[in-house]
Amino acid sequence: MSAEVTGSAGVSKEPEKSQDEAASGEEQLGETRRRSRLRWKKKDMPGGLWVKCDACSQTIYRKDLEENDLVCSHCSFHFTVTGSERVRMVADPGTFEERFGGFQAMDRLEFENNGSYAEKVKKTSEKTGHAEALICGLADICERPVVLCVLDFKFLGGSMGEVVGEKFALSCELAASLKRPLIVFTSSGGARMHEGVLSLMQMAKTCSALAELSDAGGFSICVMANPTTGGVTASFAMVTDLVLAEPGALIGFAGPRVIATTIKQELPPGFQRSEFLLEKGHVDAIVPRPELRETLAKLIDYSEGS
Ligand SMILES: [Zn+2]
Repeated sequence: MSAEVTGSAGVSKEPEKSQDEAASGEEQLGETRRRSRLRWKKKDMPGGLWVKCDACSQTIYRKDLEENDLVCSHCSFHFTVTGSERVRMVADPGTFEERFGGFQAMDRLEFENNGSYAEKVKKTSEKTGHAEALICGLADICERPVVLCVLDFKFLGGSMGEVVGEKFALSCELAASLKRPLIVFTSSGGARMHEGVLSLMQMAKTCSALAELSDAGGFSICVMANPTTGGVTASFAMVTDLVLAEPGALIGFAGPRVIATTIKQELPPGFQRSEFLLEKGHVDAIVPRPELRETLAKLIDYSEGS
């Protein structure tokens, strides 16, 4: 289960080995030179002006990518966005008012893994500018007032610990008391294993909070972005009134490699991607990022019968 925190974003660190034994020494030397040149160039790029698309490998000018809501203009691949970027993309300008922003994780287990958990949280907070992985607040989307919750993948893989669970539950209560729809964005590696069983308890807690919101006549939508995995998929992300997904997002519980190894079978093409889940009925609709705001506004109007 410890692999959950890194989710799909984890890539093999093993250096590439030359499979071709016939490759001449000269070719190998050429390759080494090419790589060192690339490394040198990358180091020299101020602030990473160019970004390579993870899907089609095209090089994209970062400014163009940002203007296109971090969607590749060549193949429409949806890059993972940070919590702050998501809020900026979704909320009407100047309408977001953060709530429960001061909550911080408690290291109850005094967990150590390549350094202390408490230290990791502190460093991540400084890096991201947020005290925890879930950003909550009030916002307008196309002039519809909502309660907005966004999981930030940059914050320990958007993992769910006690604070995420508590902030989510409070947001459900806020949505019920203000009679506003709850709009959730997920991008997560799952439950935060640094908090042990306490993190797993958040699965029940968040689902229970959503059930209470529903009983109070509330309305909720979750938009799952790449990647949404582990205990977040297995809890609140899948039980909102409407479940949307961004195109091509990896959505699942355990990773495809773990499943394939366990069941000793080849997985079907597109397994655990949004399109596959739509076909199987786990997702209500796939919405490309540029259409998200308008789609959410339309769905909110439907929920209010207008
Ligand atoms: Zn691309």
